[in-house]
Amino acid sequence: MIPLIPIENLPRIGISYAKKLKKIGLHTLQDLLFYFPIRYEDFSNIITISAAKREALKEKVCIQGEIKKIENIKTFRKKMIVTEAVIEDETEKIKAVWFNQPFLIKTLKKNDIVCLAGKIDLYKDGLFLSNPVFEKINKKNKNIRLTHTGRIVPIYSETKGLTSRWLRSIIKSLLYQFSSKLIDPLPLFILKKYKLLPLKKALWQIHFPTHLKNASWAKERFSFEELFFIQLSVLQEKLKLKQKKSLACPLNIELMKEFTRSLPFRLTDSQKKCAYQILKDLEKPLPMSRLLEGDVGSGKTVVAAMAALNTVKCAYQVALMAPTEILAKQHFQSFSQLLGRFDVKIGLLTSKEARVTIGKEVINVSKKKLLKDNAAQKIDILIGTHSLIQKGVEFKNLALVILDEQHRFGVEQRAKLTQNKNTIPHLLSMTATPIPRTLALTLYGDLDLSLLTEMPKNRKKVKTFIINPFQRQKAYDFIRKEVKKGRGVFVICPKIESSRESKIDLLHTGEEFSLFYYDPQTIKKLEIKAVKEEYKKLSTEIFPDLRIGMLHGKMKPKEKEKVILDFKNKKIDILVSTSVVEVGIDIPHATIILIEGAERFGLAQLHQFRGRVGRSELQSYCFLFTTSPDQLNKKRLKALIECDNGFELAQKDLEIRGPGSLFGTQQWGLPDIAMEGLANLSLVEKTRETAKEILEKDPGLQKYPLLKEKLKTIEQKIHLE
Ligand code: ADP
Ligand code: MG
Repeated sequence: MIPLIPIENLPRIGISYAKKLKKIGLHTLQDLLFYFPIRYEDFSNIITISAAKREALKEKVCIQGEIKKIENIKTFRKKMIVTEAVIEDETEKIKAVWFNQPFLIKTLKKNDIVCLAGKIDLYKDGLFLSNPVFEKINKKNKNIRLTHTGRIVPIYSETKGLTSRWLRSIIKSLLYQFSSKLIDPLPLFILKKYKLLPLKKALWQIHFPTHLKNASWAKERFSFEELFFIQLSVLQEKLKLKQKKSLACPLNIELMKEFTRSLPFRLTDSQKKCAYQILKDLEKPLPMSRLLEGDVGSGKTVVAAMAALNTVKCAYQVALMAPTEILAKQHFQSFSQLLGRFDVKIGLLTSKEARVTIGKEVINVSKKKLLKDNAAQKIDILIGTHSLIQKGVEFKNLALVILDEQHRFGVEQRAKLTQNKNTIPHLLSMTATPIPRTLALTLYGDLDLSLLTEMPKNRKKVKTFIINPFQRQKAYDFIRKEVKKGRGVFVICPKIESSRESKIDLLHTGEEFSLFYYDPQTIKKLEIKAVKEEYKKLSTEIFPDLRIGMLHGKMKPKEKEKVILDFKNKKIDILVSTSVVEVGIDIPHATIILIEGAERFGLAQLHQFRGRVGRSELQSYCFLFTTSPDQLNKKRLKALIECDNGFELAQKDLEIRGPGSLFGTQQWGLPDIAMEGLANLSLVEKTRETAKEILEKDPGLQKYPLLKEKLKTIEQKIHLE
């Protein structure tokens, strides 16, 4: 544990720095001590000046010596001030040069002993040290450990006004000051068993490592700690759940057979198997917690509908929550269609409207009426967005909660929907996001897994092509031909035309990833701008003869819905949209998806886009438009041509771009250090084993007050998000 001290109360920080620190989310002593370096510079080897002069140019070196002379010089042409110093050690002299830092001569004086770290460079009058990092050495006490030179130096992620140099000295002095007050939350036996560094040592070594190996050792300790607490939290939740009761829904085989007979297709074996697992869980009076995972288009909706139908016919209610209004409406339609003949009353509740289906009829109703009917169980299945967990939504007999693409711990939403104190609803969470094993074990550790491993039989593999700028016209010609056959086309448009482009490229990111770094509002605005431009270009220049529609996040729900309906009903041929447009959209006659700037997206995300076509027996196509001939991207995009398995693609992305690139992971709000740990399966398994071991013996953590306390603070954090 680390004393809870707000940064403004810490020595040497002051109001203006406190402000800057808060801007990057650092509010307490703990935050500051846990602001880990992003990399290190190894200046640990101090060499003589004569040795430094024999190093290759541009090589980084670190020397120590006495300042023999230091002065500011004004250059003629560039009107720049250059600070020149001559440093001497027992072997030789060398010049050091700093540009535009005239104030340096106030700090560095003749006869000072300094340590300098920087690159050797060559100018007219010989070799010199260019812009070296400097550190004065106390003549009286030469043994004081250096901070900025002569060691492995931490480099922090810097923002305006917060330099690594400043952070280094502050963090170092805080570590000295508070070292004795840091209490390790991890029990000793865990540290011993897994050879983890104790907290104090780990903090020192991650900031000021004596060896690079020690820095990664320290890192591992913090990854372990983060993941371990997530495991504790998830497993404890699971244990708590075991004590609760749910409404048992006996499996009605005849009804399920009748339902499958009513479908215009045959269920895949996978669908049957998953449906059976779910229905079997629902029979028990214990809460189900199940994740139904299947690639886009694998047919999760039908499986969910079966669970819902069986539940409703046991005289209970079902809630289905979707991440967006478009998807909520689509589910409302699908459920109405699938269950129309079974006399089920389905309600739709979004932030703006309320509807009810009775039989095949859809009526608009007031929200108030819908809520009243729902509370009286005159509604069987209530479908909606987050509005479902708002105040005023009451169920009389809620037995099952279905979450579609929520990417979050479903626990909380279930808790919010739970009103009846004696029972809690069963939970079925659905996702098309391929979740690697480490992530599944960590974040979904409390969920049982049902996998849809096959696609409906009538599907053809989507043909994927990488299109370079010269092939554009050919692709457009092809699109026109397809449209003439009555097919629909998506154009996904992340193209961000602005100076930010280069920065985003630097991170070579997908949109999801860049959102991580940039203000989402800005990104959204830029995206919408790009969509509008693309819409204009396509409708006036390229396809003036075709009907083009546009979809983006700023449109009103009614407008969005109309566009999607028009597209579904073939009144629009080409739909230009932002990448935020819902993954689950189901438009069977759409056979082409064209993705602009494809190299900016993660593979898993591109795969999700691709899943919007190929949803019927028609041959579909995915065109990946690229702007950059980048090799890495080419290799990445090629993987998409060869592979049509979301899991494999996610794994590839994980390998090529690291855990940060995983589709959607930042939605979990995990600290970087935990994310890094997620790439390490054996670490994840260790943390899980340890958490299990502790909870089995001591479910309430009575013997581990430190763990209990820390868990509480972590959970509070999660709940605040
Ligand atoms: P997702 O798993 O991505 O949510 P959906 O449930 O939206 O997929 O299903 C995609 C499409 O496939 C829908 O149009 C649905 O009616 C259809 N579908 C589902 N199961 C089958 C099946 N077994 N055979 C043929 N088509 C199916
Ligand atoms: Mg879906």
